Amino acid sequence: MPAVKNISPASRTKELQAAWYQGLSDAAAGVLVHLSGSGRTTYVSRAITAVLGWEPAEAREQGFFGIVEDEDHETLRQALVRAHAAGGREVSVEFRIHHKDLRVLFVRATAVRAPDDTGSPGILLQMLDVTETRQREAKLVEHARWLQKLTGNSGEVITVVGPTRDHEFVGGNALEMLGWTPDEWTMSAFERAIHEHDRARTLGLLDTLFRTPGAKEPIQYRLRRKDGSLLHVETIATNLSDDPDIAGCVLYTRDITRQVVQDALTGLPNRVLFDERTRSAFEQWRKKRRDLFAIVLLRVDRYELVSAGLGPGPADQLLIRFGQRVQESLRDGDLLARYSTDVFALLLTDLSSPEAATVLTDRILQSLERSFNLYGQDVHTGVAIGMALSDRPRASVDVLLRDAEKTLTREAARRRPNTSVADTQMLEEMTTRLELEAELRKALKTRALDVHYQPIISLRSGGLAGFEALVRWNHPTRGFIPPDRFIPLAEETELIGLVGEYVLDMACGQLASWQRDHNSAQDLFMSVNVSAREFQGNLVDRVLHALQDHGLAPAHLKLEVTETALIAYPADAERTLRVLADLGVLLAIDDFGTGYASLGALNRFPFGTLKIDRSFVSGPTGMEESGRSMALVRTIIQMARALGLQVIAEGIETRRQAELLQSMRCALGQGWFFSRAVPAQEAASVLVKASARLR
Ligand code: C2E
Ligand code: MG
Ligand code: MG
Repeated sequence: MPAVKNISPASRTKELQAAWYQGLSDAAAGVLVHLSGSGRTTYVSRAITAVLGWEPAEAREQGFFGIVEDEDHETLRQALVRAHAAGGREVSVEFRIHHKDLRVLFVRATAVRAPDDTGSPGILLQMLDVTETRQREAKLVEHARWLQKLTGNSGEVITVVGPTRDHEFVGGNALEMLGWTPDEWTMSAFERAIHEHDRARTLGLLDTLFRTPGAKEPIQYRLRRKDGSLLHVETIATNLSDDPDIAGCVLYTRDITRQVVQDALTGLPNRVLFDERTRSAFEQWRKKRRDLFAIVLLRVDRYELVSAGLGPGPADQLLIRFGQRVQESLRDGDLLARYSTDVFALLLTDLSSPEAATVLTDRILQSLERSFNLYGQDVHTGVAIGMALSDRPRASVDVLLRDAEKTLTREAARRRPNTSVADTQMLEEMTTRLELEAELRKALKTRALDVHYQPIISLRSGGLAGFEALVRWNHPTRGFIPPDRFIPLAEETELIGLVGEYVLDMACGQLASWQRDHNSAQDLFMSVNVSAREFQGNLVDRVLHALQDHGLAPAHLKLEVTETALIAYPADAERTLRVLADLGVLLAIDDFGTGYASLGALNRFPFGTLKIDRSFVSGPTGMEESGRSMALVRTIIQMARALGLQVIAEGIETRRQAELLQSMRCALGQGWFFSRAVPAQEAASVLVKASARLR
């Protein structure tokens, strides 16, 4: 008891304080340490032994800072200063501390102001061991870094979506390409980056997937880069929520823009991209209504023919080269895309006028005059063009596209009336046709084609009225090739223009030369056949050139046009024929009665001559065999007379036919009965004989 007496009030306070701390610290979680204002360790709770191995006295004696990791002294000191300044509020700090067995542990401490045993201000630290958590976290960071490295070359964005539906892991090197950092790439950032039109579908699919453990789903959609530009991506999403290692859904996302928007064969943009661009051009135009734009569809002629006749390789080549050829004709900013198998599409924006589009298509047509060499075979192709301009309001871009498709279909049908590819015999035929065409081109170049002349006789007088120039091709190895065989072939390409020009030149030159040499040739006319297709070209210029070159008067040239030409290109034909008629050139409608345009055409076009088709005159359906033909011939002659047209009967093979026509007052006749078409040298002598025969 005496000891009690000796106890000073100060030490009593100290004891009480220690007991209070003890009671407090036993009840508290973790280790309690009190540091005096001067930094002295005044108190350490008993819990330190369990946590750090030290006895409280040991810790007090070496001072608390003595067991704190050196590198963390500064962190701790600053926390203490902050706690001093914070009044009664707690300050948190983490630092490393040494266990007596030399391990380094992580502790999280709260520091709060508390007076020391002398009543002067000190700090009470309450520490919790967080080593395990920190180590786990460090491992995770390391694991993530390892994963990052592993996936860094994947070309993909790899994300793991956890149960909270947010990204728990973001890796793969493709994120960079999107312009986002892994931190920014949260689930909501991802959702916002999905294209508006694809968002509902994509998120719907993902939602279902997130709710279905084991599910796997490829999803294609458009994703915006941070800069706003669009990518086509594919996400392979797998729900691995049942897998304890992952416990989430893994999304592998890769850029498939090239596959989606690029045509694999030609390397050109495909229809997906074309549609996208067209849509935005349309939207822009709808807003501003200023910049005219056009959709032009180009169908490659003869793709099927090449494919069937030469094989898929050359056919592919044709498409590739065609694309390249067209590309060369384009302006900067024009978009060329492969639209379907043999159809290409152009998007022409910022057009100054509708004519600007035509200038471009003309340039494309011109570029196709050169042939394509496909595996050694020279192939020429033309193109059917369909166009739609934004020159009038349309409800949607689809209407515009449909309009372009409609004009294309119309144009293609007009150019290729029968394109069915059938049996092997036909395929062989096609190959031959392609070869023939190449050879015809060569023949034209070397002027190896001949022109023969068939006399046209006045049935009234028996005298010579004129000649019809008929092209002849005597092939060096194939022998004689009739025009019925190669003219249709030439008509499929721009080649017919060359044939026409060739014959026109030869025929005009021939008559001019006869007129110079023979008095009897002064009043003769020269008939030259013109194909439908030629009305598309510069026929008027060619005619003028031929006349001028040879000094022949227009009234001595007669152009024979079949009805099909008038049907195929009514507008072109009408315009051209009027100009020619005004120039004084004579015009005849050929093979009359075989087509459909008959009566209307006679009125509408400026023809002066009508040629009755030879099928009504001779052969099994001729006048002598068929009463119908006889009636038809008679009617045609009467009608022609009423309309003021001159009539020429073709294909007169017998005297009887000639006489019948004579009796019907048919003015002119032509046929084997008088003469076949003969070479120029023979023509002069044959005509004398022919006229003698009728007398
Ligand atoms: P077309 O203009 O009707 O020419 C008349 C055709 O009838 C010629 O055939 C001629 O040889 C043939 N012919 C003449 N008299 C008789 C006869 O008494 N009996 C029979 N059965 N036939 C006779 P060709 O020369 O074989 O020409 C066939 C077609 O080829 C021509 O029919 C014409 O459409 C076309 N053609 C010929 N040369 C040219 C040309 O230079 N340019 C163009 N575009 N077409 C040409
Ligand atoms: Mg003819
Ligand atoms: Mg004819």
